[in-house]
Amino acid sequence: MAKQEDVFKKLISHAKEYGFIFPSSEIYDGLSAIYDYGQNGAELKSNIKQYWWKAMVQMNENIVGIDSAIFMHPTIWKASGHVDAFNDPLIDNKDSKKRFRADVLLEDYCAKLEEKAQKEIEKAAKRFGDAFDKNEFETTNGRVIEYREKQKTILSRMAKSLENEDLADVKALIEELEIADPDTGSKNWTDVRQFNLMFGTKLGASADSATDLYLRPETAQGIFVNFLNVQKTSRHKLPFGIAQIGKAFRNEIVARQFIFRMREFEQMEMQFFVPPGTELSFYEEWKQKRLNWHLALGLGADNYKFHDHEKLAHYANAAADIEFKFPFGFKELEGIHSRTDFDLKAHEKFSGRKLQYFDSERNENYIPYVVETSVGLDRLFLAIFSNSLKEEVLDDGSERTVLSLPPALAPVKAAILPLMKKDGLAEYGEKIFNDLKFDFNMIYEDKDSIGKRYRRQDAIGTPFCITIDHDTLTDHTVTLRDRDTMQQERVPVADLRRIIDEKTNFRNLLSKI
Ligand code: ATP
Repeated sequence: MAKQEDVFKKLISHAKEYGFIFPSSEIYDGLSAIYDYGQNGAELKSNIKQYWWKAMVQMNENIVGIDSAIFMHPTIWKASGHVDAFNDPLIDNKDSKKRFRADVLLEDYCAKLEEKAQKEIEKAAKRFGDAFDKNEFETTNGRVIEYREKQKTILSRMAKSLENEDLADVKALIEELEIADPDTGSKNWTDVRQFNLMFGTKLGASADSATDLYLRPETAQGIFVNFLNVQKTSRHKLPFGIAQIGKAFRNEIVARQFIFRMREFEQMEMQFFVPPGTELSFYEEWKQKRLNWHLALGLGADNYKFHDHEKLAHYANAAADIEFKFPFGFKELEGIHSRTDFDLKAHEKFSGRKLQYFDSERNENYIPYVVETSVGLDRLFLAIFSNSLKEEVLDDGSERTVLSLPPALAPVKAAILPLMKKDGLAEYGEKIFNDLKFDFNMIYEDKDSIGKRYRRQDAIGTPFCITIDHDTLTDHTVTLRDRDTMQQERVPVADLRRIIDEKTNFRNLLSKI
């Protein structure tokens, strides 16, 4: 555990030291769970967005993208259920004064039971070797069955109590299981209360005439309320999708995991509108498509798993998360939800406007059903960043820190490094920079030893370093160093554009989906 925490601390300090992520308002001691992206972070984030946008909008003939406003009519959040039901159950520890999500305390308790079950399975796998039948062991071993049954009982009691708003029972469950504040061990809890996660603000000049507004807690509603505008102007028939990337705001109760859970964050959402009755097959299709999109990044198939929801949100008839193995364990990265006609129907009711589609094949009007894919951009950033950050011991015993980002996502594609400033090497380097800058984001650097400059580029994930030396002046070749293999080869300057493009083009990712 301590080791995991160290890895995470190292990641946060690397992100800061190399211009990826800074605490917001740092000179004023920061603002809790709000972060700023620095020069390299902004580039990486923008490249992740491009990968998503290209895969969803550019590569699908029947998906279009929009950019709706953050402020929306307040009745939208009544219709969507957020005013009444976008709550988290919170509980305070009276001794440590720390605030927790009651459901998360219970889920973490269950995760520990699951860890115990996994340990039993691993032990048995070692003991039985090749003869080990995992499935048989899981279904017959007393301890594993007991751990799993206990988890089920806890989670279903919690789900039932939350649904019935029986918060006293949620507290009783925490007390019965003797769950303690993980930091202090104290079991002195307050009652459980519901807490609405939406941030409120006001529109208008004077206090009396001002309208109460919310900062949107999800981007999806901007898509729903524009459904007919987009359908009519794009002339798409069902099934078709609307995609959007944008900021969302949630007043999270507990936000202690860096950019995993923020109060201001970005979502990349796509709502796919389908004829009623076909939603579950599209839901299965999108689950697989979205997993493939993640897998194409090459972070390792073992780092992903589906978690199918047993307790469904009020609007869904099927839901699953794609979970990723973060430094602190498997956690939700993306949600895929079959949202039925809940949202459009609610907006029809609250706005009094028809939000129906005329299906010429069925010869009928209906409210479309919706399959949603929703991924957090910052969470995805954390997944990619944490998986790519590596400490390597080299053959000569020295160490290097390398950020082995998928090349298409790297903030800087190539660094141009004249061996020295004089003798015309700097001018030659600038010439290459000015020629390639139309195609790639690059860095030009002529200070420090070449070894130091290589290490700095490794640390921000630059796939190529281009070194200019005296030979370059006469034979017009440069040394090209590969970030991952650290191999250096001599290549003609005239080939640089092609070589960099071959490695860093989005095509490499998109063609694998
Ligand atoms: P969680 O259970 O972790 O609170 P959620 O189920 O409320 O997440 P959704 O409402 O389904 O999340 O939002 C879709 C995606 O938006 C999530 O999969 C996640 O990647 C991202 N997301 C949600 N809340 C946050 C947050 N506070 N900070 C960063 N990303 C978030």
